[in-house]
Amino acid sequence: MPGYVTNPASAPARESWYAEPAKVFDNLYFVGGQVHSAWALTTSEGIILIDTIFPYNSEELIVGGMQKVGLDPKNIKYVLISHAHSDHIGGAEMLQARYRAHVVMGGPDWDSVAKYPNRYKTMAPKRDIVATDGMKVTLGTTSVTIWLTPGHTPGTLSYTFTVLDRGRPVNVAYSGGTAFNFVNNTPDPGIKNFQIYIDSQQKMAERAAATRATVLLANHSEFDNAVNKNRMLAGRGSGAHPYEIGADWVQRHFQVTQGCARAAQLRLEQKAVETTKR
Ligand SMILES: [Zn+2]
Repeated sequence: MPGYVTNPASAPARESWYAEPAKVFDNLYFVGGQVHSAWALTTSEGIILIDTIFPYNSEELIVGGMQKVGLDPKNIKYVLISHAHSDHIGGAEMLQARYRAHVVMGGPDWDSVAKYPNRYKTMAPKRDIVATDGMKVTLGTTSVTIWLTPGHTPGTLSYTFTVLDRGRPVNVAYSGGTAFNFVNNTPDPGIKNFQIYIDSQQKMAERAAATRATVLLANHSEFDNAVNKNRMLAGRGSGAHPYEIGADWVQRHFQVTQGCARAAQLRLEQKAVETTKR
């Protein structure tokens, strides 16, 4: 268990994670940090919060950040957790207890939270909504569609949804787990795990194409360059939205993640062949 979970004094220095909140689209606000993201999607019936960063900075970045941009955290109705690692689930227990927000997470990741109470101390929301593939979380006329994308963790979730840019609908693909965070150094189970990851990336490429997504969001602001893009928004004028990279580039992202995983998988397949020859 990371020390900062029970001992706030061991949290990393504020200057290493603090970032200003930002209104990015008409109905989507960045309330994350320099490295990890949290997003507030506003609707006529309340707020859907996507990812909750760490226990040590969710209070300042999410609760404080929302207040700074004029949103009331009491209106959070749903909290979507892309996967049960401390950089995304960190504030979920607090938000559920304080605002009675419903928490949505993948089944296997709910199981991890139940199985390892010590690892999830202060960040264990009570088991609530188990995500299913294609499930829609809806408030008012706004929906987030959930896609099961196992790989980074067995319960990793990704999303597609629509935001408004000065009234114009813009489609977003949100990737819930990018890194190869699974056992991958031996042919068994590495080859299989890479295949699960590749299949999920392929699925998101298809979902992004089907919804004509032109914006890619990652749950790490270090991956989608959110903090710099937020600064660019201020000087945008009548120019293009800095987050809107176009449908081709969104596809390219999911092709690259598949390609990298396939390369790593091929190395393991070679290793398996060499082992049988010996
Ligand atoms: Zn993770």
